[in-house]
Amino acid sequence: MTFPKDNLNRPLRDLRISVTDRCNLRCEYCMPAEIFGPDYPFLPKGDILAFGEISRLANLFVKCGVEKIRLTGGEPLLRDRLPDLVSELAKIDGLHDLALTTNGLRLEAFAIPLRDAGLQRVTVSLDALSRETAKRLNGSFESTNHTLNGIAAAKEAGLEVKINTVIKRGVNEHEILPLANRFRGSGTCVRFIEYMDAGNYNGWDGQDVVRSNEVLDLLKNEHPLEAVPPRYQGEVAKRYKYLDGAGEVGFISSVSEPFCGDCCRARLTADGKLVTCLFAKNGHDLRVPLRDGLCDKDLLEIIKKVWRLRQDRYSELRHQGMSDSGEETKVEMSYVGG
Ligand code: SAM
Ligand code: SF4
Ligand code: SF4
Repeated sequence: MTFPKDNLNRPLRDLRISVTDRCNLRCEYCMPAEIFGPDYPFLPKGDILAFGEISRLANLFVKCGVEKIRLTGGEPLLRDRLPDLVSELAKIDGLHDLALTTNGLRLEAFAIPLRDAGLQRVTVSLDALSRETAKRLNGSFESTNHTLNGIAAAKEAGLEVKINTVIKRGVNEHEILPLANRFRGSGTCVRFIEYMDAGNYNGWDGQDVVRSNEVLDLLKNEHPLEAVPPRYQGEVAKRYKYLDGAGEVGFISSVSEPFCGDCCRARLTADGKLVTCLFAKNGHDLRVPLRDGLCDKDLLEIIKKVWRLRQDRYSELRHQGMSDSGEETKVEMSYVGG
């Protein structure tokens, strides 16, 4: 079987599936509360793909070369019976890795059902240990406790757990060391993510980005660290190990060191759009042809064609001062799934 390559010779290896555009937090860098309020036009229920539709498309993506699937959102654990979808996806022949990204608020209750359904890994987003900073960032005093309980439950259940931490200057820089220290030696890698100009409403300003080098210097002042070679080509996080054996930290530096050249990720939105870049302006609809009764072969051809035409490299263009994000709107992070 020949797998498609895009216009820049990149294969399709990863698929991120958003199962809902709704969330139980309002992180200011993703879903600012003043925009994502009660009147925000979230997707109507009838537009959202059923689990059977998601599984069918996921199978086709695997036939295009996808080896890894990550479930995301919005908040994926808000979707009813998510473990049922996990167990469907876990059966796909040729899929090597099935993971979930969550804010962790409902993870304590779901860790065991997700593991039993065949989930292997979970990435939990946690930007602050202090209740006050969490409240400022995502609107909830209680989120940290729930998320920490979720992390503990996931580890207890035997899932591999990583932490994603977005740092915004002047908001949670003071959480860098406490977060790193909390997970040092625990077998859980914290990955610091540069704050990105995702979506249209977070008021992104380059001055608010705390670059990975800055975070690394701060950590190195406390603990000697050494770079670790990537495990595979296209690994998004750059990893460093603590020289005292207390594990690793990672850095996702999409602003200061873009990695579009190796980007083999596609996104499937909750309403069935195939989106080929986190910063795309729109996606290619798969739901209508799916519901119109197209056969697998024809759907497969649509997916391959979209991938072959792909030429996205937004972060590289931004880095070179050439992105045109001011002119047209981008998809929202909570819609496309991060
Ligand atoms: N709700 C889940 C969560 O927070 O983990 C999954 C969806 S969320 C959109 C996926 C990831 O995107 C999270 O780790 C979040 O921190 C990250 N994210 C959202 N907006 C971002 C931004 N503007 N810059 C960098 N990362 C962002
Ligand atoms: Fe929700 Fe995740 Fe976005 Fe925060 S980052 S608002 S938890 S979707
Ligand atoms: Fe991939 Fe687009 Fe991000 Fe570049 S900007 S790494 S092409 S998702």
